[in-house]
Amino acid sequence: KSNIKTKPTIYMIFGGTGDLAERKLIPALYNLFLEGYMPKEFAIIGLGRTDYTNESFIKNLLGGVNKFSRSGKADKDQWADFSSRISYLRTDVNNEGDYAKMEQVIDKYEAEWSEPPVIIHYLAVAPNFFPIIASNLAKMKSAGDAERTRVVIEKPFGRDLETAKELNALLRNIFDEKQIYRIDHYLGKETVQNMMAFRFANALFEPIWNRNFIEHVQISVTEDIGVEDRGGYYDGSGALRDMLQNHILQVLCLVAMEPPVNFDAEEVRNRKVDVLRAMRKFGPEEIRFNTVRGQYGEGWVKGEKVEGYRQEQGVNKESNTETFAAIKFFIDNWRWQNVPFYVRTGKRMHQKSSIISIQFKDVPHLIFPNNSSESWQQNRLIISIQPEMSIRLQVQAKRPGLDMTLNPVDMVFNYDGTYETDTPEAYETLLLDAMKGDQTLFMRGDQVETAWDLIMPVLESWEVKKSINFPNYSADSWGPEAAEALIAKDGFHWFTLP
Ligand code: NAD
Repeated sequence: KSNIKTKPTIYMIFGGTGDLAERKLIPALYNLFLEGYMPKEFAIIGLGRTDYTNESFIKNLLGGVNKFSRSGKADKDQWADFSSRISYLRTDVNNEGDYAKMEQVIDKYEAEWSEPPVIIHYLAVAPNFFPIIASNLAKMKSAGDAERTRVVIEKPFGRDLETAKELNALLRNIFDEKQIYRIDHYLGKETVQNMMAFRFANALFEPIWNRNFIEHVQISVTEDIGVEDRGGYYDGSGALRDMLQNHILQVLCLVAMEPPVNFDAEEVRNRKVDVLRAMRKFGPEEIRFNTVRGQYGEGWVKGEKVEGYRQEQGVNKESNTETFAAIKFFIDNWRWQNVPFYVRTGKRMHQKSSIISIQFKDVPHLIFPNNSSESWQQNRLIISIQPEMSIRLQVQAKRPGLDMTLNPVDMVFNYDGTYETDTPEAYETLLLDAMKGDQTLFMRGDQVETAWDLIMPVLESWEVKKSINFPNYSADSWGPEAAEALIAKDGFHWFTLP
């Protein structure tokens, strides 16, 4: 059980009746409760327009916990205790008067509890509601209290640089930056956090973590599913906005950042934004040579026929939205000059997997005959984020036998084999950090804007040149052929785990 002390907290969940609350937020808070991380005094207030009583709302949430919690079916007594802190408030975010109702609830707890609570407004609603909610929160007396009022903003944060800037301006007008928690749930994942431990708690890697030893880096985030029931949303977004601008660039920052002086939120985020600022912004020529987009067509997945993207529900029949994107980036600084960073992401790919692959340079001189290894693959470090959570170092080794035959082998650190405890869900880490007031794993306003700024030329170019030969990859494949060519022309290939 935890010995971290969190202050009395009220979680106000806007969109409390939504999918995110049911699948992620409530199960995460419940698991934090089970492990002793919730303060003695806490309350969760679900907000939504549906006509629920407290009882019917809680019953729904229990269904979600039973289905989605990593700890399995809820324990009867623990759930009774946990859910006694949950209540439901029927509200419309557009209705000013409803915010007074919220304030009354806050006041009630404030009067009863041992000290004034931390108030976390979690905006689990569609992004078009962010401005109206923020403006109304501004009128609450607790809004300006930077020490204890926080607002958590879900993705997507804007749909381009301009809208991200507008949203930042609006939020900063009301809140201090230290009250704003922009979620990128990738940053809450254990293996992503471990990137920092791995790089900065081991002396071994830092000396070789640069252009002198590293040939190239790959970040590949592939999903085997299609757009499922999110077609309507996704068609207005696409792979670049949905995955690359946020998750992939954040992971790239962790791979490429300079060592921070300490683990403070501002320090870590300064070093990350440095990377984004150093990334080469593309002109039209570079877009042509360094980017590939794709859209999936129909295909067969595990013996079953699946539809192409344009046939999915909610998707325009002539949609040119990309469901796949690959980009070759460069970081113009001393550490990374001329080291390509290949990133790709796609839906309906052959495998669900998120991996970082760091390929080191060849040995300077080979003393063994060319045919003495079955594969002279170079040293490679593979950090697998999901579903496998592991770090592998590929090295050449002598195969047992009387002759000098070599072959590549993996030194493996696997979470499953190493630790007995379950790894927490990303949302548990992030919801706890929001309670503690730790912003390290949340995106700062300038990070979001710099990331948008970087990809704007690509977004704009893809939007202008709409006529493209979609679909250009079939379901259950590794994406369009051009994506292979993008990396093959440099003599590499996309790395996949077996
Ligand atoms: P959802 O459609 O399931 O839920 C939306 C919620 O908003 C519902 O509770 C609904 O009652 C509420 N709502 C709508 N109009 C309202 C109004 N006028 N007044 C009060 N409440 C209103 O959406 P979701 O999937 O839960 O997503 C919520 C947010 O989280 C979105 O920004 C989404 O992009 C983000 N997100 C969701 C997921 C996910 O897995 N579902 C993952 C990442 C990010």
